[in-house]
Amino acid sequence: MLLRVRSITYLAEAINGYELVDPRGRDLPRFAAGAHIAVRHGDSAVRDYSLWNDPAERRHYCIAVLREAIGEGSRHWHEAVRVGDIVEASMPRNNFALTDEAQHYLLLAGGIGITPLMAMIAELRRRRADFLLHYCTRSPEATAFRDELGLLAAQGRVRFHHDGGDPARGLDIAPPCATRSREPISIIAGRRA
Ligand SMILES: Cc1cc2nc3c(=O)[nH]c(=O)nc-3n(C[C@H](O)[C@H](O)[C@H](O)COP(=O)(O)OP(=O)(O)OC[C@H]3O[C@@H](n4cnc5c(N)ncnc54)[C@H](O)[C@@H]3O)c2cc1C
Repeated sequence: MLLRVRSITYLAEAINGYELVDPRGRDLPRFAAGAHIAVRHGDSAVRDYSLWNDPAERRHYCIAVLREAIGEGSRHWHEAVRVGDIVEASMPRNNFALTDEAQHYLLLAGGIGITPLMAMIAELRRRRADFLLHYCTRSPEATAFRDELGLLAAQGRVRFHHDGGDPARGLDIAPPCATRSREPISIIAGRRA
């Protein structure tokens, strides 16, 4: 399908957000949390990007692209894509679907791997489900969605971890994953591709 770039937003260091809409203003096909689209701008490479907006929204698809130092597709997005441009996109596909059976959801995000989890958080909030997100990035400046997630952090539902780029200072995931509870728990990990 063809989509128009409606807005471009700075989300964090080297991460831009792109809002994509139907050129004629029609609703877009539905997607479920965890889905991605394959997109191409002009002759650029086709690359997959997760949809991070609330799946209940039909008016736009939102993607976030991390600029890779020598990445062909992501550099193109950052350097060549402009508001008003048309891009070619696949229908949403989902290899990372959210289960609806858990009593508690433990979400683990590393860097740009936060994107599908943002859609999951919107879905879990609508379901009034119990969740906790551990979000690992290099620094506050490299952390996309810091303001939105900051509100949830104040409620104890998000914890930020910054390692300064040193793996030795990274989150030890054993304690967050340990649970004595016998209730079903779903552990969902989004990492940088
Ligand atoms: C389901 C899915 C969802 C995804 N969601 C997102 C998302 O939400 N946001 C996002 O930013 N990405 C996402 N990705 C990753 C995205 O599809 C691209 O893979 C990513 O943007 C890098 O593409 P690129 O063309 O910039 O890099 P490529 O040119 O394909 O290069 C890939 C990697 O190799 C490195 N590389 C390239 N050339 C060299 C070289 N000569 N020497 C050494 N290293 C080299 C690049 O730096 C890069 O790290 C997702 C991927 C999948 C499969």
